[in-house]
Amino acid sequence: RPLADLAASLVQDVPDFPEPGVVFKDITPLLADGAALKAVVEDMASRAPGPIDLVVGMEARGFILGAPVAVALGAGFIPVRKAGKLPRETLAGAYELEYGSAVLEVHPDTIRDGSRVLVVDDVLATGGTAAATVALLEKAGGVVVGLSFLMELTFLGGRDRLPGRPLDVLLSY
Ligand code: 5GP
Repeated sequence: RPLADLAASLVQDVPDFPEPGVVFKDITPLLADGAALKAVVEDMASRAPGPIDLVVGMEARGFILGAPVAVALGAGFIPVRKAGKLPRETLAGAYELEYGSAVLEVHPDTIRDGSRVLVVDDVLATGGTAAATVALLEKAGGVVVGLSFLMELTFLGGRDRLPGRPLDVLLSY
């Protein structure tokens, strides 16, 4: 796809970030390119599996892509945040990190029972964030009909933690 070539040309590899041995994929050059940002958002929206009531984005880059995808679909947007950031009553879910664990939270009353939800994030790495988000949304009564990522780091096997889930990915590494 020509869009994949354009997007790939705007993602920068950053060696040894956030720690030695990790090559971080920096999407900020892509975000800074108006034509590329628009094309990526429209592509994510156009590939959504059927009607979408809510787009969910994970802190923080999932907010940047998820909100415009929601607008393009005429859907609402829901932030999934790291612990302690949301002001009202939250539903929380813990997930494993390489070292230790972390907690994600959502305001469950913003999700109507049976809502069709699309999860959007920039990168699918180990899949821990996405799997925890799906579990949280389903606990809150949503129906996760698909997940859309700008990029998948296939060598980390994140897909295996989302069995049976429709996944859309623009770039695979
Ligand atoms: P996972 O839980 O799948 O291991 O990690 C995915 C989360 O970490 C995503 O929210 C994503 O934003 C972030 N992440 C992990 N690796 C990278 C990377 O190389 N580049 C970017 N932009 N984000 C990453």
